[in-house]
Amino acid sequence: MSSRPEILFPLFAGLDTLPGVGPKTVKNLDGLEIERPRDLIFTLPISGVDRRKRKTVQGADLPGVVTVEVTVGQHRAPARRGGAYRVVVEDEATAFQLVFFHANEPYLRQILPTGARRVVSGKVELFDGMAQMVHPDHVLEPREADEIPEFEPVYPLTAGITQKMMSKAVAAAMTRAPELAEWIDPAQKAQAGWPGWHAAVKAAHNPQILADLSPAHPARERLAYDEFLAHQLTLALARARLRRGKGRATVGTGALQAMVLQALPYSLTGAQTRAISEIAADMAQESRMNRLLQGDVGSGKTLVALKALLIAVEAGGQGVMMAPTEILARQHLEGLRPLAESAGVVLEILTGRDKGAVRKAKLAALAKGDIQILVGTHAVFQKDVEFADLRLAVVDEQHRFGVRQRLELGRKGALADVLVMTATPIPRSLALAQYGDMDVSVLDEKPPGRKPIKTALVNMARMDEVVDHLRKAIKAGHQAYWVCPLVEESEAVDLSSAEERFRRLRASLGEGVVGLVHGQMSAEGKDAAMRAFQAGETSVLVATTVIEVGVDVTNATIMVIERAESFGLAQLHQLRGRVGRGEADSTCLMMYQAPLSQSGEQRLATMRDTDDGFKISEVDLEMRGAGDLIGTAQSGLPKFRVADLEAQTALMAVAQSDARKLMHDDPVLQSPRGKAARVLLWLMQQDQAIRLISVG
Ligand code: ADP
Ligand code: MG
Repeated sequence: MSSRPEILFPLFAGLDTLPGVGPKTVKNLDGLEIERPRDLIFTLPISGVDRRKRKTVQGADLPGVVTVEVTVGQHRAPARRGGAYRVVVEDEATAFQLVFFHANEPYLRQILPTGARRVVSGKVELFDGMAQMVHPDHVLEPREADEIPEFEPVYPLTAGITQKMMSKAVAAAMTRAPELAEWIDPAQKAQAGWPGWHAAVKAAHNPQILADLSPAHPARERLAYDEFLAHQLTLALARARLRRGKGRATVGTGALQAMVLQALPYSLTGAQTRAISEIAADMAQESRMNRLLQGDVGSGKTLVALKALLIAVEAGGQGVMMAPTEILARQHLEGLRPLAESAGVVLEILTGRDKGAVRKAKLAALAKGDIQILVGTHAVFQKDVEFADLRLAVVDEQHRFGVRQRLELGRKGALADVLVMTATPIPRSLALAQYGDMDVSVLDEKPPGRKPIKTALVNMARMDEVVDHLRKAIKAGHQAYWVCPLVEESEAVDLSSAEERFRRLRASLGEGVVGLVHGQMSAEGKDAAMRAFQAGETSVLVATTVIEVGVDVTNATIMVIERAESFGLAQLHQLRGRVGRGEADSTCLMMYQAPLSQSGEQRLATMRDTDDGFKISEVDLEMRGAGDLIGTAQSGLPKFRVADLEAQTALMAVAQSDARKLMHDDPVLQSPRGKAARVLLWLMQQDQAIRLISVG
C-alpha cells in the first residue's frame, strides 16, 4: 500500500470542502496548524463550560458562567457615546444586569422585549456590588433553551477563529470520520476499557462533565495511545529494516582488546564492562546491531566505543567513528591512536579538510583494508568513501542525530552494526520516543576518583573578583574555560561579545595567556586555538559554545559561564562537564545578570544542587516540554496532538512493546490487524514508515 487508503480521503481533503468553512477560516486555522479535516478531529477541547440551568445567579461562583431563566425589565441606553447599554433582568431570587457595549438598540429591544421570559447564559461578574453579565453567549426563549448544551467544549483558538467557528468546523469534520478497523491489540484494548476509534473521537469532542476532559478518560487515552503506537510502529519498522540488513556475525578474538587494556592506566568500570558485553553480544548476532550508548559526560563512552571497534578489527574487518565536529574528531584521533597503536592497529582520520592527494591516499588505504579504524566527521560517509569490510559504525555525541539520519546511515548499504553514543542523558519517556528503534546500554557509573565540581552562582556585578580569582588560579598552574553569553538573535552578536571579553581578559591577565575560539573561525583557526589550550600554551580559553561537546583538557579546572541564565539546562550540564576530568578540584562559576527570571533561577539552582545528568534532564523536561527538549524537527519526533509524552510515559512503553510484537508476528503488516495498522500509519502521517513498508 504505497498510496493513502481511500477510506481516509475525506479526512485528508481540503478544509474548504467542509460546509461553513470559507477561505478566510481556512487561512486562519493555519494558526493552529490545522490543514485538513483530520487535524480538526485531532484538535480536542482544552476545557469545558458548564451551562446547566440554575434558578438564580445568587450563590453562584463568581465570576463564572451562569445559565438562568429571567424576566426582562427596563432597558437603559448609555448616557454618552461609548457607554454601556444595560438591560435589567430578574431571576427567581434577584435582579442583575445584562451589559452591552456598542449596542444596537433596536436589535436588543427585539431579542429582549421588556416583560418577556428569556434564558440567558454567559459569564457573570460583580461590578460595584452588582451582578452583571457582559455580552451573554446565549439569549433564547425558554422553549428554545434546549439548544444550549449543558456542557460546552472549549477549543484552543487562534487569531480570527472563535469558539463558534471551531465547534462548527469540528462538527463538520466529524461527519467525515469513518469507522476504521481496529489496530490495537484486542487484549490491550479490553484491559484498558478503550472504545473503538470512531467512538473515541466522538466522545472526545462531546464531553459531558469536566472529568471527560482528563487525559485518563478512556476515549482520550485511546487516542493518545494511537499516536504513540503509530510512532512506535515507525521506530519498530526502522529497527526491523536495519536488523534485516546484516548477514554476518562479527565475533572478536579478544586479543587486541587485551593489549589495549594492558596499555591503560586503569581498569574498566562495571558499567563499561556491562555495555561492552551487550555490544559484543549484538555484534555476534547475524542481525544488525542498532544500539544506543547513553552515558553522562565523563562516564567513559570513548573507551567502550574503542573496544567495540577493536572487535570489528579482530574479526578481520574495519570500524568507523563519526564525530559531529572537526575538533572532536581530532580529539578522538589523539586519544585513541596511541591505544590503537599499542595493539598494532592502524587508525586514521578523514575530515572535510583532507583534499587532493592526501585524501586519495587515505581512500585507497581504506578500500584496501590498510586502515582498520577510521575516525572523522560526516566526511566518512561521503559517496566515494569505500571500506574493504566495514563492520561497525559508531556515531558520537549526536543528540542532533534523529531517527531520519539513523535511517540514512542504514541506507548507506553497508552491512555495518551501528552504535550511537549520546552524552545527553534523557528521561525514560524521551528515550522511548526518540530511540525506540534502538536497544539501549547505559553507563550509569562514573570512573572512580572523580571529584565533584564545586558550582557557585555569581552576580555579573562581581566580575572583578572573578577575574582576580582567575589570575591566582593561573599563577598556580590551572587552566580555565570562559564561555560567553548566548545571544540567540545573531551569531554576530555572540561573536562580538566573545571578542570583547577576549580583549578585556587579555588586558587584565596578560598577552598570550588568553585564547579565543568561536563558531565563525576557520577550522584551522579553531584547531590552533584548541591545540594551544590543550598544550597549556594558553591558560584561559574564551569560547562561544563550540566547546560544548566532548572536548577534553584534564588540566582545565575552572569553568566560567557568563550570563549562565541564557543557557538551557542540558547545555549548562555539558559545559560544566568539561572540567573535573583530572585529579585537581574543579569549580564552575555561573555568572548571572540580576534580576533572574523565575525559570532562570530554577535552572541555576538545579545546576548548583545536583550534578546528576539524569536528574537535570528530568527537570529540563518538566520545565520545557518534550518537543522543545530535543527539537522536534531534528529528532523526527512527531508532534503529538493528543498524547502527553511526559504524563503518559507508561503508555508509550506499552506502545513500544506492542509495536515490536506486531512487527515480530506480522513483519509486512499483512494480517487484518497489520492492515489496520497501515491505515493508522497513514492517519498519523507517518510517511517515513510507509516508505519503509512499501520498499521492504
Ligand atoms: P565521555 O565521552 O563519556 O564523556 P570519555 O570517554 O571522554 O567520557 O572519558 C572521560 C575520561 O575518563 C577520559 O579522560 C578517560 O580516559 C577516562 N576514563 C574512561 N574510563 C575510565 C575508567 N574506567 N577509569 C578511569 N578513567 C576512565
Ligand atoms: Mg566523549
